[in-house]
Amino acid sequence: MSDHLIPCREAVRQLWDYLEGAISDASRAQIEAHVAFCRRCCGELEFVERLRSLLESQTTSDGPPETMSRLEHFIDEL
Ligand SMILES: [Zn+2]
Repeated sequence: MSDHLIPCREAVRQLWDYLEGAISDASRAQIEAHVAFCRRCCGELEFVERLRSLLESQTTSDGPPETMSRLEHFIDEL
């Protein structure tokens, strides 16, 4: 168990960038460490991953608004 796990808010906020590979190795490691033990965020990561694979055939590189608002709502509930 890591001594410096990032909070759920921080992990969820960076999920999309994480999947885009748009974050540093250090941040990536922190998120992976977090979702590895946090079932709540792990479920959210699966949701974003599924959504992203659906969007892979499309040209947009930004997260769709529904996803962003869902993630923001999730963060508000933490
Ligand atoms: Zn969490």
